[in-house]
Amino acid sequence: MSTPCGAFVFSLDFELAWGYQHLPHAPDLRPLYRIVPQILDIFKTYDVSATWAAVGHLMLSHEQAQSEYPRIDGVPYHGEEGTEVFYAPALVQSILDCPTHQELACHSFTHAPIGSSRCPADVARQELQRCQVAGEKWGRRMESVVFPWNVVGRVDLLEECGYKCYRAENSEWYWFRQVRRFASCAPRTLPWRVAQYAIRSLRLIDELACLAPPLPRPRRLGDVWEIPHSMFFPGFSGVSSLVPADWRRRRAVVGLRRAAARKRIFGMFTHPHNLLSGTEPLLRALEGICRQAAALRDAGRLKILTMAQAREALERGEFIE
Ligand SMILES: [Zn+2]
Repeated sequence: MSTPCGAFVFSLDFELAWGYQHLPHAPDLRPLYRIVPQILDIFKTYDVSATWAAVGHLMLSHEQAQSEYPRIDGVPYHGEEGTEVFYAPALVQSILDCPTHQELACHSFTHAPIGSSRCPADVARQELQRCQVAGEKWGRRMESVVFPWNVVGRVDLLEECGYKCYRAENSEWYWFRQVRRFASCAPRTLPWRVAQYAIRSLRLIDELACLAPPLPRPRRLGDVWEIPHSMFFPGFSGVSSLVPADWRRRRAVVGLRRAAARKRIFGMFTHPHNLLSGTEPLLRALEGICRQAAALRDAGRLKILTMAQAREALERGEFIE
């Protein structure tokens, strides 16, 4: 069945300190207790449903984690914050309390690289199962998965653990395996510097040019759907710190209009922590994107869907022309 409109699928990787385990230090993540409700306010204002892919531990209280999972020791980096950056039931509650439906999805249990061959299959299975159990305690049966580090793999385990869809790997050219291989020569050597300089320069040009984000086709692997990804909404870090906040909105609007015209899915993702620096202009850009998506929806040209809702639409044959 064809559909007369396109779709906007917005997902947020919600991981707090679990995403910084590989680093000796993390930024101060406590302002996210202010920023997440601000994002939810925007969603409420424009009636935007999004997918919050949460690390399972964030759904637990510290006490719960200590009593139920004592063998998983947290505090992998030496931040100054307390337990509130590892366990965030108050934020999970605010997501579920949003008057506009928000989907709670799985981003593994400890932010382990479950899609990578470096992660043993039984660990990946446990991560997926434990996250599902943590979500069930909030009354949510989770259907969607966002792989940590955007490394997709072991899709067969998803179905086994009760999930029905996952987000595709990044579609930006600088995430392609060939580009990453090109940039992975020994750090600080001349080839490394040349690769870094070339990729950063091209990425800056790319972001400033506001080129239309790709609209990859959804795929079905067995009974599990891959929800396409079109655009990452970056924070003010790396070369993206040189790109004005509003350029993100401009680019997303190009993608939204193109998805509406082509009746395809425009998938965008960010992390709440991407808004830690330059919060106000980034929130305004995010609001501008939601406003445009809502206008297209009200004109009957776009649906705003969670990943799980997009999967249901794909099952009905929408967005796959
Ligand atoms: Zn992550």
